[in-house]
Amino acid sequence: MKTIIAGNWKMNLVKEDVVNYINELNQVEINQDKEVIIFAPSIFLESAKAQLTNQLASIGAENIHQEAKGAFTGEISAEMVKSIGIENTLIGHSERREYYNETDQIVNKKLMQSLENGIKPMLCVGETLTERQGNLTNEILNSQLKAAFQDITPEQMTNITIAYEPIWAIGTGEVATKEQAQEACAYVRSVVADLYGNDIANNMPILYGGSVNLNNFNDIVEQADINGVLVGGASLDINSFKNMMK
Ligand code: PEP
Repeated sequence: MKTIIAGNWKMNLVKEDVVNYINELNQVEINQDKEVIIFAPSIFLESAKAQLTNQLASIGAENIHQEAKGAFTGEISAEMVKSIGIENTLIGHSERREYYNETDQIVNKKLMQSLENGIKPMLCVGETLTERQGNLTNEILNSQLKAAFQDITPEQMTNITIAYEPIWAIGTGEVATKEQAQEACAYVRSVVADLYGNDIANNMPILYGGSVNLNNFNDIVEQADINGVLVGGASLDINSFKNMMK
């Protein structure tokens, strides 16, 4: 399986930064065993995609709406994203769950929308600090995954990537230890195996996200059940992100 190195810009960077960033990204020699995805704000999706020439990198959306179309001012649909040739989207990032009230049911509808439009979703799951301290990590992951995969077919599962992102480690500088990250990602894989069997589970890319940077990157990606990283803050600096790709 390829190692996926994904960046999530969130609500950062302006047009000029994006042009410079993609220009740098185009010059990085990415090894064939890696895949790079940049999740970018919707306003930059089309221009960043048009500028990107690096064959092993792609641009993804940070979010799509759960309905196909209609009176949802300010939102973007999966079909719109598809119509500009974008092939990936984040779904259910913890910031969306927390600040925009995205429930597990909404996350499930978003997954459906992306899959029905041929866009590969990267589903984010993860527990809060209180949940971890209460030994509820597995329970939370289990219920988030089961709800997200409601009515998702085995065939559709082969287009999904999961990012395990403990909320207490996102943007906090607090990284899960490699053992914590491995244990949670192994558990996520076991839930997929229970629901869809070993074949699908063993081929499911499962990433870790949460304050990943150059210092902890190697430890994380060396873990048996971790197939890559989802990087927020450190992906904004093209130089550190470039070093992860190398
Ligand atoms: C994220 O936004 O998915 C993330 C992991 O952010 P950070 O790397 O900044 O913790």
